[in-house]
Amino acid sequence: MKTPIKDFLYGGDYNPDQWPQESWGEDIQVFKQAKINSATINVFSWAALSPAEGEYDFSKLDAIVDELSAADFKIIMGTSTAAMPAWLFKKYPEVGRVDYQGRRHVFGQRHNFCPTAPAYRRLAADLVDHLAARYADNPHIVAWHVNNEYGGTCYCEHCQQAFRGWLKDRYQTLDRLNAAWATSVWSHQIYHWDEIVVPNELGDAWGPEGSHTIVAGLSLDYLRFQSAMMQDEYRLEKTTIEAHDPQTPVFTNFHSTPNKLIDYQAWAKDQDVIAYDSYPAYDTPAYQPAFLYDLMRSLKHQPFLLMESTPSQVNWQPYSPLKRPGQMRATELQAVAHGADSVQFFQLKQARGGSEKFHGAVISHAQTTKTRAFNDLEKLGDDLEKLGPQLLGSTNQAKVALVFDWANYWALEYVAGITQDLDYCQLILDYYRQFYDRNVPVDVISVDDDFSQYDLVVAPYLYLVKPGLADRLTAYVKGGGHFLTTMMAGMVDENDNVYLGGYPGPLKELLGIWVEESDAFPPAQEVKVALGQQTTAGSLLADLIHPEGAEVVATYASEFYAGTAAVTKHQLGQGTAWYVGTRLAPAGLSALIDQVLAAAKVTGLTADQPGVEVTKRVQKDGQSYYFVLNLTNQSASLPKEFAQGYVDCLTNQAPAARLAPWAALVLKKTN
Ligand SMILES: [Zn+2]
Repeated sequence: MKTPIKDFLYGGDYNPDQWPQESWGEDIQVFKQAKINSATINVFSWAALSPAEGEYDFSKLDAIVDELSAADFKIIMGTSTAAMPAWLFKKYPEVGRVDYQGRRHVFGQRHNFCPTAPAYRRLAADLVDHLAARYADNPHIVAWHVNNEYGGTCYCEHCQQAFRGWLKDRYQTLDRLNAAWATSVWSHQIYHWDEIVVPNELGDAWGPEGSHTIVAGLSLDYLRFQSAMMQDEYRLEKTTIEAHDPQTPVFTNFHSTPNKLIDYQAWAKDQDVIAYDSYPAYDTPAYQPAFLYDLMRSLKHQPFLLMESTPSQVNWQPYSPLKRPGQMRATELQAVAHGADSVQFFQLKQARGGSEKFHGAVISHAQTTKTRAFNDLEKLGDDLEKLGPQLLGSTNQAKVALVFDWANYWALEYVAGITQDLDYCQLILDYYRQFYDRNVPVDVISVDDDFSQYDLVVAPYLYLVKPGLADRLTAYVKGGGHFLTTMMAGMVDENDNVYLGGYPGPLKELLGIWVEESDAFPPAQEVKVALGQQTTAGSLLADLIHPEGAEVVATYASEFYAGTAAVTKHQLGQGTAWYVGTRLAPAGLSALIDQVLAAAKVTGLTADQPGVEVTKRVQKDGQSYYFVLNLTNQSASLPKEFAQGYVDCLTNQAPAARLAPWAALVLKKTN
């Protein structure tokens, strides 16, 4: 049983080893002035801790830990295994990855290790063993931060060997493997396990990595395998820590939008808490980080840690406009609104050198607290000091679930035809945005989650349907659930082999339709769609649908299939199953989602929707906290529902009717 983190964390990555020891005390005073209470340390210090194999010097880290402990900081201790020292590459070149193009990488950058290379695993575990033994008893360490932002792939000889073993476990026999990979196509039969080679650009894959493959079963298995090997390396570090410290939570930080190469749903069970690095760009619409936060929260159906974000600029994006007054506070509170129990930054002190020296920080190069950014951080610290204890551990409750599935993500984007524009995340976001705009809370779940807790389950582009899923969805709908899916659904099994007898394969009876073929449009082409009184448009694909029990909700109004079904609805048992055969234009999709929500009897948190984000967290004592966020540069109206009977948790005053640009309120009902 792990000891949960007892405080709302406000802090971030701190690298005092880049600075003279005399300056650390002053740094800590500045952090305290901003009410910062936590620091993540030792994330990239392997080379500093160990000048050669088997040699360690922890004196500097000891001093850092002592100084932060004396100041009563909560410490998140990194394991430093995400950037290898130069000596390790020199001594064991096989620790470097072989990339998709077949090139062995030399020393450089970070996130550069092969997850299966024996020398890497042995020496990473040795470092972690020394760290955990040394610091396990420090009560200020509230969590262990393993490695960093796992990602990428390796195609080396160690990985190839491990892949063959992984396949033997998965398939047992080559007959099963050959059937799964459809190797009778293009003379691909495998007769001996050692004939299997990695699917890189020199083999069965082509185009940018992850985009095209000749043998989808092989490429899907390689992505499953690589994600599993990264996870296995993570588990090696985690169990090494736990041998010394079984109580303190252990995690790694997830990242990206979301990271395609790591199946976070498979990893979640090995994370004691989900931690997420959030870096929306200046032009990222607000619903996108909201979607990612909902995904992170739903991985364990628990609050998560916002592990990294920037207090001002992001140096690695193409453009880094300054955050406008109020923007930093509002966007950090957006993460909290969606379930974060921390606000943490990369970085607490801006580096003088290296690739992230122009990334924002609490202590900037100016090295003074008399800056606009510091002033904003100080104010946020005051707010979090009041809000944090009230919000810690409170939950978000959703009646709508949006399915996001990594195997489906991989398979859909590998599809050879019938359009090259299958961008899974973008297509999922079409639907997410509909609920976001209505302030309908959404969980972003896996295909293995329990559907029964939701009134509506939306699974767009559910191309890959693994065994048992269709039965579970059917039972859910028969029992009164409402389900929606779209074109491309139900086409293939877990190895990307087509279900015969008409699309959408095992979902046909649930949906009460079958699909004969699908028209695939070039970018500028659309089909007209008649939906109730409205004429809207469809793009990307248009399925030619045969209803078999389903009611027609919308029809095509152009092309040779005009008059046939574009959207259907099937009553089955106590519930309904909807099928959307084309990518509806936003107005059409909005009208359809109104119908679907009405059928499922789901309403948003506000009926009045003036373009502000409203979410709710509920504390164990039943107290509800409403986050009302104006995530725009223009003023907006307070939703009418909050005009009376609510107070601002920070000021205890009723909220004003107008919200300033980037206003972010946390409201609760008056007693
Ligand atoms: Zn490798």
